[in-house]
Amino acid sequence: MNLQQLKYFWSLIPNTPGCKGCGNCCKIAPFIKSEYITIQEYLRGNKQTLPEKGIDGYCSALALDNKCLIYPVRPTICRLWGTQEITEFKIKGRAIELNCKVHPEANLNFHGDSRYQHYLRLYLLALNTTKTHYMLGFTEAELQAYLTRKK
Ligand code: SF4
Ligand code: SF4
Repeated sequence: MNLQQLKYFWSLIPNTPGCKGCGNCCKIAPFIKSEYITIQEYLRGNKQTLPEKGIDGYCSALALDNKCLIYPVRPTICRLWGTQEITEFKIKGRAIELNCKVHPEANLNFHGDSRYQHYLRLYLLALNTTKTHYMLGFTEAELQAYLTRKK
């Protein structure tokens, strides 16, 4: 999925007005290559760096005041949180639900139109056919522990 397609997809994802911005979902943030490039350009342009590791298993872009340090270019999964429950959204074979569990009233239950569904499929394909998923602030071992944890 190239940068142009990615940015178009982002324009189709609705805002989640009910999101409290608590940062609770900021634990697992995979990104695809075009997202990685966008984040790197943003950081370079702002002469900014991120810590190698987040605090207490949270994303390294999450500041202490719960603000996202790369908000304008945050990965797609961060934009999808609270929009819907996508059970076919899989990382390393494990389904990830995107419904907000902390503030269920924030969920939009959005399904979008055929264009949206098309770009969502493209994104999921890119995510799951990339050999390595990069996790902000996660090592591979920590990611496996996170994905196999008992709920
Ligand atoms: S989606 Fe939910 S958990 Fe994530 S920041 Fe918003 S309210 Fe918090
Ligand atoms: S990139 Fe930003 S929005 Fe996404 S998980 Fe990290 S802090 Fe949260």
